Amino acid sequence: MNVLVLNSGSSSLKFQLIATDLGRITQNNDERLCRGLIERIGGEAIIAVHTRNGLTQKFTASLSDILGSLEYLVRWIASDESGITEVGSPSDIHAVGHRVVHGGELFTESTVITDEVLQGIEECIDLAPLHNPNNIKGILASRQVFGPKLPQVAVFDTSFHHSIPEHAYLYAVPYHLYRRHHIRRYGFHGTSHRYVTDRYRALRALTEEQTHVITLHLGNGCSATAIRGGRSVDTSMGLTPLEGLVMGTRSGDIDPAIVNLIATKEGLSTHEVDALLNTQSGLLGISGLTNDMRVLLQELSDQDDRRVRIAIEVFCYRARKYVGAFLACMGGADAIVFTGGIGENSPDIRARICEGLEWTGLRLDDNKNKQMVGLEGQISSDDSSLRAFVIPTDEELLIARDTVRCILGEPGKHRVPAAENSGVGEMKH
Ligand code: ADP
Repeated sequence: MNVLVLNSGSSSLKFQLIATDLGRITQNNDERLCRGLIERIGGEAIIAVHTRNGLTQKFTASLSDILGSLEYLVRWIASDESGITEVGSPSDIHAVGHRVVHGGELFTESTVITDEVLQGIEECIDLAPLHNPNNIKGILASRQVFGPKLPQVAVFDTSFHHSIPEHAYLYAVPYHLYRRHHIRRYGFHGTSHRYVTDRYRALRALTEEQTHVITLHLGNGCSATAIRGGRSVDTSMGLTPLEGLVMGTRSGDIDPAIVNLIATKEGLSTHEVDALLNTQSGLLGISGLTNDMRVLLQELSDQDDRRVRIAIEVFCYRARKYVGAFLACMGGADAIVFTGGIGENSPDIRARICEGLEWTGLRLDDNKNKQMVGLEGQISSDDSSLRAFVIPTDEELLIARDTVRCILGEPGKHRVPAAENSGVGEMKH
């Protein structure tokens, strides 16, 4: 099946076309036919596509909305110009898988999109007012472009965390706020945490019940998840993706009293403070320079700038603190798994986070850590009782696979048994 994976934003559309089916999932040899991003939708949009043979094409087009962008994309995929021989017309795209940010308490797993499901996603808009409306636009545009009969599947950022117990998801605020407004912790990046957990399990040939890990997704957004018996039992993000670790531009955990104080002292509305905590804080806020970790590390080595240094220190300290807390919450773990742009590519940040964690039994192998850049494998030494791994995430692949599983009527079977997937067969790019 050729599955189009879509992640619709306010002015962008991220996409991948993946050839997969149950057999390919079992063999771990799904094939990415193309991936790319349409940016600046609403004006002269920029389209960047990476094709299977490693070529990158960039062009521009006047695209007014998501619908126009999707029409343009599908026309391009089906054209000779794309070189995607598997798709000669739109009917060669067999399903669409959507990343949907918030599934609230309604959606505990990926699901085929019906009118009822669409209504449920709309009901979750209150919880993710910036994201769910765009995801809905992507779904409606797909219905228009491909017709109502083409199967579409929603894969939620939140659903992997539905197994978190009440004592971990409830905030200690008046209980009626939870009942009335569903105010609780939900967690995000679920597709990524689930993907790397499954991959870890496959690499080590473990059963789900034997899989006890702490996953650290460190990208622009950052989150940590405690996974016991293959299930999420706690995670650092909360009602929204603002809670928890220090991120590129988000503060992560702060004292809630700070909101009122900043509003009063700076003459801002609470909405403006919310925006400040989401877009002006984190690495950018402390360093005053950038949210880009690569640039910060370069700056640290070139200039040893004090604010850059402290930004990195706060980032790593917070991550270490969550590792310690989760080890306590889950009664110990077998491994820490690093993923996301920073987690996959920065041996320096990984080493800083692990510094001082020797008491947990964790020993990094410096050479392995340095070599593991954009690769998959163990970075702890063989005598380390708490292992450390780097596993590049692949959320789109998981969305494509869930799309297939849901359409074939096996929505509960999200997991590939370890024995079937223990070879480290790599997906073809
Ligand atoms: P997103 O969360 O938007 O998907 P990514 O997962 O791509 O983002 O992560 C982006 C972050 O990863 C940026 O801070 C970027 O600087 C960082 N990053 C990418 N490569 C490296 C590297 N080699 N060293 C340090 N940080 C890196």
